[in-house]
Amino acid sequence: MAFAKPESETVRVETDVEQVLTGLQVGLNGAKGTCCCCGRELYDGHCVTVYAYRTAGHDEWNLPRVYCRDCNAGMLETPTLGTAEVVATAFLGVMQVAASQSTRLVLTGVELEEYSGPDEGSDG
Ligand SMILES: [Zn+2]
Repeated sequence: MAFAKPESETVRVETDVEQVLTGLQVGLNGAKGTCCCCGRELYDGHCVTVYAYRTAGHDEWNLPRVYCRDCNAGMLETPTLGTAEVVATAFLGVMQVAASQSTRLVLTGVELEEYSGPDEGSDG
């Protein structure tokens, strides 16, 4: 007994990306990140632009690039086929990790700027 799936399913924009990216850890351990462009240190409360991607078939988003506001790239470079990519702005926040008695820098207030689905891009 199944209801018909909504026809909009074929155009599945990942509206939950903002939620998924929220809380994602920035940088390594500790409450400090680094702008990948100018090397400036990033702390709690900074506004940043991030580039994240997810390879088709994987649920996990990778966060290879974090930019400070001055270096704000804000745009996708060349879309990569087979990869979902986003550029988003966010504020940095500090999350306490009770179990390890440490803090980590995470993304909060994520707003999606650009999205490129896995069907976009070229392999040439
Ligand atoms: Zn920078």
